[in-house]
Amino acid sequence: MPAYNECMPATTENEPIKIVHAVCSHDCPDSCAVLVTVNAEGRAVRVQGDPSHPVTQGFLCGKVAKYLDRVYSPQRLLYPLRRKAGVPKGPLEKGREMEAFERVSWDQALEAIAAKLQETAERHGPESVLPYSYAGTIGLLGFGSMDRRFFHRLGASRLDRTICAEAGGEAWKLVYGKKLGTPNEEFPKAKLIIAWGANIHGNNVHLWPFVEQARRNGARLIVIDPYRTRTAALADWHIAIRPGTDVALALGMMHVILRDGLEDREYIDRMTHGFGDLAERVKEYTPERVAEWTGLTAAEVESLAREYATARPAVIRMNYGVQRSQNGGTAVRAIAMLPVLTGSWKQRGGGAQMSTSGAFKFNSIAVERPDLMKASPLGRAARVVNMSRLGHALTELGVADADGPRVHALFVYNSNPAAIAPNQNAVRRGMERADLFTVVHEQFLTDTTDYADFVLPATTFLEHTDIQGAYGHYYLQKSTQAIEPLGEARSNVWLFAQLAKRMGFTEQCFDDTSEDMIRQALDPGADGLSRNPGMEHVSPESLAESGHVALGFYRDGARETFLPYSEGEMATPSGRIEFSSEVLRAAGVDPLPAYLAPVESRTGPDAGRFPLEFLPRKADNYMNSTFANLDGHRSMEAKTGQRLEIHSADAVARGIADGDAVRVWNDRGSLRLTALVSEKIPAGVVAGKLDWNKFSADGQNVNVLTSERLTDVGRAATFYSVLVEVAKI
Ligand code: SF4
Repeated sequence: MPAYNECMPATTENEPIKIVHAVCSHDCPDSCAVLVTVNAEGRAVRVQGDPSHPVTQGFLCGKVAKYLDRVYSPQRLLYPLRRKAGVPKGPLEKGREMEAFERVSWDQALEAIAAKLQETAERHGPESVLPYSYAGTIGLLGFGSMDRRFFHRLGASRLDRTICAEAGGEAWKLVYGKKLGTPNEEFPKAKLIIAWGANIHGNNVHLWPFVEQARRNGARLIVIDPYRTRTAALADWHIAIRPGTDVALALGMMHVILRDGLEDREYIDRMTHGFGDLAERVKEYTPERVAEWTGLTAAEVESLAREYATARPAVIRMNYGVQRSQNGGTAVRAIAMLPVLTGSWKQRGGGAQMSTSGAFKFNSIAVERPDLMKASPLGRAARVVNMSRLGHALTELGVADADGPRVHALFVYNSNPAAIAPNQNAVRRGMERADLFTVVHEQFLTDTTDYADFVLPATTFLEHTDIQGAYGHYYLQKSTQAIEPLGEARSNVWLFAQLAKRMGFTEQCFDDTSEDMIRQALDPGADGLSRNPGMEHVSPESLAESGHVALGFYRDGARETFLPYSEGEMATPSGRIEFSSEVLRAAGVDPLPAYLAPVESRTGPDAGRFPLEFLPRKADNYMNSTFANLDGHRSMEAKTGQRLEIHSADAVARGIADGDAVRVWNDRGSLRLTALVSEKIPAGVVAGKLDWNKFSADGQNVNVLTSERLTDVGRAATFYSVLVEVAKI
């Protein structure tokens, strides 16, 4: 195995180069191993997938294959910026954004920001400072390390990072206690693959070769998704379910499986808790009732259930789209129970995968240092603010005394909330507040920097060192800095260590380097509480050696393969897989899954207020809002960008023709798009894509329509429970 982080011999060109093992840190299950070729001038000249990584298999997706366009983009932010005196917050005409700012040195920026945070904390209390970050980088240090230490020591509000995966994650844990899933390498053994809310070909592309291998071996692929995605178009059967009705379908499948005696009693008796209660519950979910909710026929429900239960092995790839409905937590719970009923976890090529992240147990206490909250002026744990309700947090929180202080300082990094947060009009009203001090650490000028008092240049994953787990495989990786930071760009670790010094924080942990924190993350600690049975053999040295290391329980040679939940791995209160959740029972909530229509759905309490269900879809060639500013990526989205996809029946009913300008609205906002009459979307559902506000005709995006209502489990955003109406302009 080559030591990628060392200089390699000269190539055919007579210039010495090195090849560095990095890891794509974008928010994607694949966490690809990336080999970065660096020339003698220290410039990255090539990125490629690492052929020795068993999941990356030598290729990168279309988003990252052209990554050097992003790293060396002429639009990269290269030095700190301060808003010019007298320039109000808010977007300027596209291309003129820089006119709002003036260049300052890092010293000037850090001094001014530290002074303002200090003043804000003293005047309004430290909880008036709100960090806002998510998965702009999912490297361990970039996602959460020195920043957490800094905000804990300051006494800032804590952010409940719920915007993406919390509903599904919490729900999975209610059933199993720990997030594990079928390894990608087992998928070729499946005879049936169900992609449930999972656009594998679009945004989990390194699973696709394993799916193709299974299909060459005779497997069928079924896709359950309201939208005809790339994956659905390639499937043997596309089930265009109504949004937010996945719970009903999963319960209907259970009804058929149990009615017809297709369950695995041996596995159920040995491994589960609450089976009798579940069996009673699903009796009411007849195929006929389920058909009414889901828009399928009863025969389709029967057929799906029987095929799933009799094709052995069968594996389900569920992705996070499923859990972005109001009942999304219950949807994930119900789907996650299917392989338990059939005993599919026992078989190679069976089971399910939503996330493998539970396998990576870093020592987060050492990395994030929550104990520092006690040393803050608060002297206690700070309040928690839910990021999925940022609009509320910036406009209403603190009006009642019991909430604590209003938010007076917002520190954004790894995120673009002006574009990605729900209820965008409320978010932007809050960000426009003259009394809100906003700092944004970014690689580009975004929709959010339009509201910043200071903009600080951030590094890309080629320009800093990190380690990274994954939520789509079982390899722990080191991402080694390949090139010097461009201009004056700096990493999150550097930024928050510098700010800590300016704030007078004297704790030694603020002197830690990235390498120090990597060592701490992998150290189980004196009490061993953070010890992960799969990670004892992983050390900074072993990671530096090859760049990626398979987790031990998965590739330790002790077992032929890793079959999660076949014998153990549960971490629930009962120690068993829970059909009936003891956590929910203790909370006084119905412990069994049940279908409740989202408030905003065609069968929910708000049905009729607006007639169409709206899907604010992710673009295949962006990563949420990341990459949307690059011409090459935009051109790949040109066909559906700034369009409203609408079924011909809904279009005709409104006198709308393909290419017409249309208005989409509900009681939160209104958006102008161009109609794209499409059969990729079923009647009754319309879809638009997430994009930057500044690329749209009216300076806003799909999130003017989404709400701050939260999911049933995990307090997460409900992007896919939205009702709208559409009219021709
Ligand atoms: S975005 Fe995903 S598929 Fe693309 S390179 Fe990064 S990890 Fe791999």
